[in-house]
Order: sequence, then C-alpha cells, then structure tokens
Amino acid sequence: MKIAFFDTKPYDKPAFDKYSGEYGINIKYYETKLNEDTVFLASGCDAVCAFVNDTVNAEVIDNLTQLGVKVLALRSAGFNNVDIKHADGKIHILRVPAYSPYAVAEHTMALLLTSIRRIHKAYIRSRDFNFSLSGFTGFDLHGKTVGVIGTGKIGKVFIDICKGFGMKVLAYDKFPQKEIEDGEKVKYVELQELFSRSDIISLHCPLTEETHHIIDEKALSVCKKGVVILNTSRGALVDAEALLNEIKSRKVGAACLDVYEEESDLFFEDNSGHILEDDTLARLISMPNVIVTSHQAFLTEEALENIAETTIENLVSFFENGECKNEIRYKPENDE
Ligand code: NAD
Repeated sequence: MKIAFFDTKPYDKPAFDKYSGEYGINIKYYETKLNEDTVFLASGCDAVCAFVNDTVNAEVIDNLTQLGVKVLALRSAGFNNVDIKHADGKIHILRVPAYSPYAVAEHTMALLLTSIRRIHKAYIRSRDFNFSLSGFTGFDLHGKTVGVIGTGKIGKVFIDICKGFGMKVLAYDKFPQKEIEDGEKVKYVELQELFSRSDIISLHCPLTEETHHIIDEKALSVCKKGVVILNTSRGALVDAEALLNEIKSRKVGAACLDVYEEESDLFFEDNSGHILEDDTLARLISMPNVIVTSHQAFLTEEALENIAETTIENLVSFFENGECKNEIRYKPENDE
C-alpha cells in the first residue's frame, strides 16, 4: 500500500514510520498542503493522508477519484475541511475520532490559567530580572461559573478538570448526555442562559453550519462583562471581528484561542520574517489579554502515537476488509 501524506511536520514522522513499518506500508511524505494544485502528487498512491488545514473540496475529490485514489485518511477528529456530501460514493473518508481528549482539555485549562494569572507576562518580566508584581492581579477559578458548549469527549474531560478546581459548570449540547449532570456542580442549560451566566465560556463542539460563529456580536452582547472566551475547537466558531470589538470595548475580559477562522495559511508555519496581512489576528495578538497558540492543543506524545496507530489501522482495515469502523458517512438528514 502506498500513501501520499500531505502537510507533513517533523513531529508526524516518528510515530507514522513506526506503525507503517509494522504493516509494510510505504508513505510518501509531502510538506505541502493538499489542495487543487498539489492533488496530483497523489498519483500512483492507494490512499491520501490529510490534516485539518488540507483542502478536500469537490475539485480535489474529483481529481483524487480520477487518479484512482480510493481512500482519504484524515489524521484528525474534525472533518469540517472535507466536502462529505461530494465525497459520498466517490472516495471513502476515514478519521481518528478520538486520540487524546486529555491533550486538548488540558491545553484549554493551561491557556485559561496562563491568561488569568498573567503567566505569559510574568515569564517575560522575570527573564528580565523584573520582579515587580504590578498588573498581575488575577482571580480565583474556585467558585466561578464556566459555560461548556459541546459535552462530547473533550468537553467532558474539561468539565472534570473544572470540577476539580471547584468551578460550577453550565453545559450546552445539541444532544445532552444527562448522566454528566451533577446537582448544582454540572447542569445543562439553554445557550442563552449559558451566555448570560458564565464567567468563562469554553467551546468544544464541532464546526457545522449551525455552530458557525456561535460566538458572535449577539452572543457577546448577553455575556457578562469580563467574560473569558476559550476556543480550542475550530476557529470559525468565533466571529473574530466581533470578539476583537468586544475586547476593545472591555466587555470581554480575556480570550484564549488555539484556533482561528483564517488559520489555514498561517498556523503551523514560521511566519516570523513576514508581515502579517491579517489585521484582525495581528490586533488580537497585540492585546495583553489575548493568548493565541497555533492549533497546538492536540500536540502531546500520547496523541501523536494514537493518531498514527489509528490512522494506519483504519487504512489496513479498509484495504483488508473493505470497511472501517471510523469511516465518515454522509447523512442527508444533516443537510435539512
Ligand atoms: P465529540 O464528537 O466527542 O463531541 C462534540 C460534541 O459537540 C458532541 O457532544 C455533540 O453532540 C456536540 N454538538 C454537535 N453539534 C452541536 C451544536 N450545534 N451545539 C452544541 N453542541 C453540539 O468531539 P470531541 O472529540 O470532543 O472534539 C470536539 C472538537 O474539538 C472537534 O470537533 C474539533 O473541532 C476540536 N478539536 C480540536 C483540536 C485541537 O488541537 N485544537 C484537537 C481535536 C479536536
């Protein structure tokens, strides 16, 4: 089996070499992203392996089909970058539904603590032997209310972490799992109530048409003054312009973003020698109360091992048995 592996980063290779070696799979690594211009690099391959910022639109799918590529194995859980409807009946889309919810949930808490205790500022100050504490007053998480949107694998781990800190959790999910409710400690509420009562709001739902800009001007208008927004899910859940405006107006107290709507041409790459064209991102990064990481929440040793193992097992299962339990199937009812 030969696989074209797009958007390769140095940290991808060790685990993928290990698991592909065990199954005698030949991986051709490409640093370039998959898109309309690069799709032809998959020529002669049985499958393609893609990541979150690769483009898998109708044109790419048609080209892959023409090249005889039968399978696209995502090495991610999210699949909002794939035109699932167009892929139906043309190419099989496999994914890694879970690799480490702990990695993402723990990074979310790391961002929150860094932000509210000003660790990012303190680190720079003490490196300069400036041991002043002025401007570093934070607040206790204990007793605060956190709104968690999306209570799937990652959301649930994040809720457990928050409970450990003595926080109250208001949860919202399209498909609530009532068993996670815990008296006054964890309660499902309607979205508007979550917005109006939360001190901190954390996003853990997928990006769909329904959740696109779930945090927008209207949502922020009902939030508490000083609300902290955490997004380690997908960039387009947050209207970045609206967030920036409410940071400027002092309505939003802080924002921690591991993802950004227009991240695909920027994140994961060293752009330090370039002038950033995206004024909204540049302004957000310039704010003392905004922390941006570059889609890093998944990046732990455990997650990388699990991603490689599941991706290779998905491919082996598909090519040996003609099916894979982690195949994404298009559901027409989701379009209604
Ligand atoms: P999951 O499928 O286990 O959970 C998602 C939850 O969102 C489910 O409970 C689902 O019912 C809920 N949901 C669906 N539609 C909703 C809606 N309209 N409103 C509210 N809730 C809705 O997924 P997961 O493994 O917990 O991952 C969550 C998201 O995290 C992924 O979709 C992905 O975008 C993101 N993610 C980010 C990183 C990163 O490195 N930053 C890594 C992995 C995953």
